[in-house]
Amino acid sequence: MFKVGEATITRIEETYLPAYPLRDIFPDFTDAHMAQHKDWLAPHHYDPDSGCIKLSVHSWLLKIGGKTVLIDACCGNNKVKPGRPFWNMLNVDYLGRLKSAGAAPDDIDLVMCTHLHHDHVGWNTRQKDGKWVPTFPNARYVFSKPDVDYFAKIDADPKQGPAELGTFRECVVPILEHGRADLVECGPHRLNDFIEIDGAPGHAPGHVFFKLESKGERAAFIGDVWHHLLQVYYPDWNFPKNSDVDQARVSRRKVLDWCASNGALVFPGHVGLPFAGRVEKAADGYRAKF
Ligand SMILES: [Zn+2]
Repeated sequence: MFKVGEATITRIEETYLPAYPLRDIFPDFTDAHMAQHKDWLAPHHYDPDSGCIKLSVHSWLLKIGGKTVLIDACCGNNKVKPGRPFWNMLNVDYLGRLKSAGAAPDDIDLVMCTHLHHDHVGWNTRQKDGKWVPTFPNARYVFSKPDVDYFAKIDADPKQGPAELGTFRECVVPILEHGRADLVECGPHRLNDFIEIDGAPGHAPGHVFFKLESKGERAAFIGDVWHHLLQVYYPDWNFPKNSDVDQARVSRRKVLDWCASNGALVFPGHVGLPFAGRVEKAADGYRAKF
């Protein structure tokens, strides 16, 4: 558990596995990079046996001011994920882990998705009587409007749809239909006393990040602005699957600058153990202090 001012923040794990070959994901990675970074890469961020980067899929449970907030909603159970064997038809006790962290589904006041890719919306819904219904019945769900518009358009196009392996229909549309969604622009936009929403488009067109401030301390929930700490050192290295590769790089530097200049504790969506940390500006770029 992490503390930021009066907030407590707990990681709710879904999976934490070696996922993709490092040199496929980051083609510019050389033996010299390995020599420079090997001290911290293995075993938490890189699996030497398989040559794969380790990625976590998790949510962040934020409690502050009497509110219980779930940030990003992983892949979810019973979801068909063609081409994603690690996350296909999961059967994970995610809700048990959430309960152990002090939150039953009824307790969640807000679900906030940094973007609407399939691995950030899964637990928005669960199956009941053959239908996908909101998992968190009392929650308002905060979605980025540009992402809703973008994926709705793809989903409606028979040549491109269904969007996000079908998860847009399963995990986003039911929330809209139940009237539980609050659609927000990319910001900057103040959500409540503690949280501000700001734009970080590029990985998805409506990708946002959430700034938290409490008692003079700051945090940032950055979703997929970077997937791996190597991207802190090499901000131009994109992870695959972006709506706009150049915009993703601009957003990464924007968020790195904000986090470094504010001393914010950074909570990414997929970075390995210890899962959260700080970034610092250095003469030649940035350093990760995780
Ligand atoms: Zn992701």
